[in-house]
Amino acid sequence: MKQYDVIVVGGGVIGSSLTYYLSRLGKKVLLVEKNDLCSGSAGATDGFITPHTKQPGYHLEMALKSCEIYETLAKDLETDIDLELVLHCGGIQACEDEMQWKLVSENAEQLSKSGLELYMLDIGEARRIEPALSKKLRGALYSPIASCVNPMRLTEGYVDAAVKRGAEVSFHTEVTDLIFDGDRIAGVHTPRGDFYAEYVADCCGSWGSRIAAMAHLNLPIVPRRGQIIVTEPMPRMLNTVMQTGIYPIIKFHPERIRDERVFRLGLAWGMEQTKDGTMLIGGTREFQGFDRGNTVEAIEAIVNECCKYVPAVRHMNFIRVFSGLRPKTPDGLPILGRVRRAPGLVMCCGHEGDGIALAPVTGKLVAEDIVYGKTSFPIGPCSAERFLN
Ligand SMILES: Cc1cc2nc3c(=O)[nH]c(=O)nc-3n(C[C@H](O)[C@H](O)[C@H](O)COP(=O)(O)OP(=O)(O)OC[C@H]3O[C@@H](n4cnc5c(N)ncnc54)[C@H](O)[C@@H]3O)c2cc1C
Repeated sequence: MKQYDVIVVGGGVIGSSLTYYLSRLGKKVLLVEKNDLCSGSAGATDGFITPHTKQPGYHLEMALKSCEIYETLAKDLETDIDLELVLHCGGIQACEDEMQWKLVSENAEQLSKSGLELYMLDIGEARRIEPALSKKLRGALYSPIASCVNPMRLTEGYVDAAVKRGAEVSFHTEVTDLIFDGDRIAGVHTPRGDFYAEYVADCCGSWGSRIAAMAHLNLPIVPRRGQIIVTEPMPRMLNTVMQTGIYPIIKFHPERIRDERVFRLGLAWGMEQTKDGTMLIGGTREFQGFDRGNTVEAIEAIVNECCKYVPAVRHMNFIRVFSGLRPKTPDGLPILGRVRRAPGLVMCCGHEGDGIALAPVTGKLVAEDIVYGKTSFPIGPCSAERFLN
């Protein structure tokens, strides 16, 4: 019988982070993934670490905790994998007009109350930081602490560091059901055999509610598709990571959008330049089930939107498009920690568009919850119980 302390289900950035932090605390961990590492959204995402795109209050405070961990992460992991982590490249939220400027200014005021350093810059000042921005814009919010990372390298880095500490990994191993010992979850069934553990952690992102359902829990995690365009490698052109001023509305309050197409596509422009020079230009927030296709309508809309903010995009060559699924919960917070109603199960999913930013703090806190039964930063607001009645 194969017995572990914890079985982590899902080889995305979240499962990899949790596997690493558990291994660091001396636990015997098995990571199981139905496909390959990064085959979920960890392999189809931007790499923004942007606290200013979080909800004011708890969500932002959690993101700031994650930023603290990112400061020394590359060294702490003791891996040879280059995470392509660029600390403090800065983040821009560009305002097209007075309406966006007002919206972003109000949001900035709320975010600043949680201690986040932010500046509202007129377009002249903003262009000194990010010359690629159009002169026609009203201005921009600037966050000096914003950073970026290569999400696939990050995931690989976590797994590498965990394996060096004794973790085992099984790819192409789908969890088809849970094993119960009385009321307690005691392991997982897979086509490769049964594996047993004291805890099973659901790190399945958009598929997280399926594992929860195996434990007879009805948890509301739905996939929210994001389509992205990739350009050919370009000479260094962007200093920061950038988004549109209406990003917080599209992300957290889509019901306020009046334009039918913007609402349906969840159209929110964003852009970054990767280490190898390619531009990642997004994006959408669509509810299309588990469909990971790309559509002409969305790609055309993204390009048109992007040219308003960064006119140089008109002259770029695109080499491919991709889409990924953000695991969305109704209140925008992930679902984390042990579940009273399902002993042995640990939830660790539902990060929507924040999983890269929140991966370090998530892995650390959920590992603490499993090992010590308490955490160094509260995870109560993320408990599964908020959705179970
Ligand atoms: C277009 C786009 C842009 C984004 N940009 C950003 C950004 O800039 N910053 C940021 O912080 N976040 C961003 N995100 C969000 C981020 O990518 C996600 O929050 C994060 O990747 C979720 O990670 P995960 O590990 O929970 O899920 P996933 O990476 O989806 O991993 C879940 C894994 O579980 C596996 N799995 C499912 N069911 C089973 C099973 N039964 N058995 C075994 N394995 C199973 C899947 O194969 C998958 O590999 C973006 C997302 C998208 C789509």
